[in-house]
Amino acid sequence: MKVIAFDVGGTNIEFGVIEDGKILKKGETSAKGIQNQESFVSILKNIINAAAGEKEIDAISMGIAGLVNPDTGEILFSPNLPYLNGLNLRKALKEVADFFIDNDANVYALGEWQFGAGMKRDNVVVLTLGTGVGAGIIANGRLLRGANYYAGEAGHIVIDFEGQVCKCGQRGCVESYIGGDYFPEFAKYYYRRESLSLCEKCTMLELARRAKEGDRKALYLFEVYGKYLALGLVNIIHLLDPEIIVLGGGISESFELFKEAMFKELERRVMGFSRRNLKITKGALGKEAGIFGGFVLARNKV
Ligand SMILES: [Zn+2]
Repeated sequence: MKVIAFDVGGTNIEFGVIEDGKILKKGETSAKGIQNQESFVSILKNIINAAAGEKEIDAISMGIAGLVNPDTGEILFSPNLPYLNGLNLRKALKEVADFFIDNDANVYALGEWQFGAGMKRDNVVVLTLGTGVGAGIIANGRLLRGANYYAGEAGHIVIDFEGQVCKCGQRGCVESYIGGDYFPEFAKYYYRRESLSLCEKCTMLELARRAKEGDRKALYLFEVYGKYLALGLVNIIHLLDPEIIVLGGGISESFELFKEAMFKELERRVMGFSRRNLKITKGALGKEAGIFGGFVLARNKV
């Protein structure tokens, strides 16, 4: 089975052609100049035509941030590309091939579940740690979407009644502590308070670089990161009792820097933590999880 899998972000449309679980081709194009649904669809069609090669593709899949209806193929709410709201891609692409869609965290989770760190397990949570924090949940061998397709909004688990303000408008969401747009703000504040050596561009990457060089403040900040992450995980573990939690997204590359503090906090807070059959690990596929997941979405027709 040959699938073209799209991963639509706020700035880029990435895609991969994948046949029977092997990636044949990858590419990306900018989403910046696209203004409306018609040009979005025609760009997709051009990519599909150019990428298909001699043997036609069997299905198209897409992961996109926001709220989508996988049953109908409609994009309900796209925070990054609002002009896509209301677009039914299954209808728009029906002359081309079968079309499957889900939000990007679910697609990513399908990839890690079937081809990555979650292989051969039935209860898997894949948490993506990036600019935002998202999750895909596999419960008893099935992707859990919920009654309104909202399941897995792990970033908005509340860990403080009067906490920080989150992009969603609420206070105290775990994303507003460990999201890649938020944690560096805390880091900047910490550097300013503790010493004169200002951390001007305290991105997560910059912090990781400093920590690896032995900067004590950066090492401490990753401990703080691990503790806040653990608070989110405590809620997930108590609610879903997974056998594996896979951490993906860019910040998971710093797993070694925050895992000790994370596990320490989990041991303290999770009921029966040491007796559980539970593994917490870094993802195995990196960014390609989205492409593998797109293949799973189409292959399993989910
Ligand atoms: Zn929130």
